[in-house]
Amino acid sequence: MRTTAMTLWTAVLAAAFIPSVPSPAHGAIPMMAAASPPAAQEVIAIQAGRLIDGTGQPARDNQVIIVRGERIEAVGDAAAVAIPDGARVVDLSGHTVMPGIVDAHAHLSIRPDIRTLRGQLEGMEQHDAMQMARIVRNIRVQLMSGVTSIYVVGEVHYNDIQASQAVEEGIIPGPRIYPSGNFISTTAGHGPAEYRTTNGPWEMRTFVRQNYEMGAHHMKLTITDRARVGPNNGTPYAPGESNYTKEEIDAAVNELHRLGIEATAHANGQSIRLAVEAGVNSIQHGGNLDEELMDLMASRDVGFVNTYTIGFQSVFNEWGFLDNEAGDIRDWLERGRRVHEQELSRNEGRAQRRLDRLGQLSRSKEKGVKVGIGTDSMHGYMLLEMENLVAAGFTPLEAITAATGLNAEIVGIEDEVGTVETGRFADIIAIDGRPDENIRDMGNVAFIMVGGRDQSALSFR
Ligand SMILES: [Zn+2]
Repeated sequence: MRTTAMTLWTAVLAAAFIPSVPSPAHGAIPMMAAASPPAAQEVIAIQAGRLIDGTGQPARDNQVIIVRGERIEAVGDAAAVAIPDGARVVDLSGHTVMPGIVDAHAHLSIRPDIRTLRGQLEGMEQHDAMQMARIVRNIRVQLMSGVTSIYVVGEVHYNDIQASQAVEEGIIPGPRIYPSGNFISTTAGHGPAEYRTTNGPWEMRTFVRQNYEMGAHHMKLTITDRARVGPNNGTPYAPGESNYTKEEIDAAVNELHRLGIEATAHANGQSIRLAVEAGVNSIQHGGNLDEELMDLMASRDVGFVNTYTIGFQSVFNEWGFLDNEAGDIRDWLERGRRVHEQELSRNEGRAQRRLDRLGQLSRSKEKGVKVGIGTDSMHGYMLLEMENLVAAGFTPLEAITAATGLNAEIVGIEDEVGTVETGRFADIIAIDGRPDENIRDMGNVAFIMVGGRDQSALSFR
């Protein structure tokens, strides 16, 4: 269940490039018989003034993290962890060190400057060169905001799988990408027109098999909401009703689980019940939660990923302007926050809906539902998602956990990322300040490492 996309790619590439070695039985000497010894892995010792490890535990002072190659080899009190000879020492003694942020709901190629949901989905019909141009920019902004893992929930033409490979090969800078492959959506459902085509149990299974073959790490079914086209303009079957039938969802989830990978579902309202009962591993959005749905999710240990900022997509009509004018990532964050605050102050309906939703978030937490967060393509704005949880009554530490260890757990990647623990990928950031006391300090990202590679020198431009 936990196979990383990287591992998959490594396997795929290894399979593709096995040289055709003459068989010894024919008397030839194999050209590649003696593998060269593995290159020595760099050892880095990070001295952390404070460490928030992402598990939910409070910050600990004076910690040392030993990174060997791409993984964390040891972590503990400075007095107890020996720094190996020859290690490169990174002094973050004046900082709060923590795991890199996990964005648990993202589309790499979408930009909200296309203003409306329909516009965004149409943007996904553009040429792949345009998709990749947006991806390169979007994931750079994400990385600079402290996001080191992106859980993709629907892309087109397997562009996320290509991007994942490009990052892994060092062609473009970016966070670790967990690709979903293409959207799974029904006729007249939700998603780019090209993928609103999968109907019936066998088409579901076929689609899953194709996506898997191309390298998807997990997949997303879009079961609620409908395309805003035609005279019905997105009217659902009934409020919260699923577009897919139970047998279709069951078939997809069964096929995914047979392949050993996870299913996540775009689901709101009562359709959540159908998805959870079919065995999906997580819920995306999870809008309109009532007490019974919260109880169901808690009892099945199925978490949901809240997506707050994307609700403001229609007022981000100056996104291109923001991107050209923002001087650095802090400026980018401030401009985005201002847009949100202005909209909340002038749009009473939205402000009220937000209050209702904050109540659902705090009630979910009380009931033991795992509440995660994702930008849903508001790239770089995980901080606003965290601030929204704090507005719902979460402590700053709980909001940080939601963005790191808990997010990873909800989407099934917790054995690899989300916490600073032995054996995890060395995806580590450092903050100027104390974000567990003031969540806004999360905007002051001072150090970024992905898989042991220091990315802190990356410029916003
Ligand atoms: Zn989405």
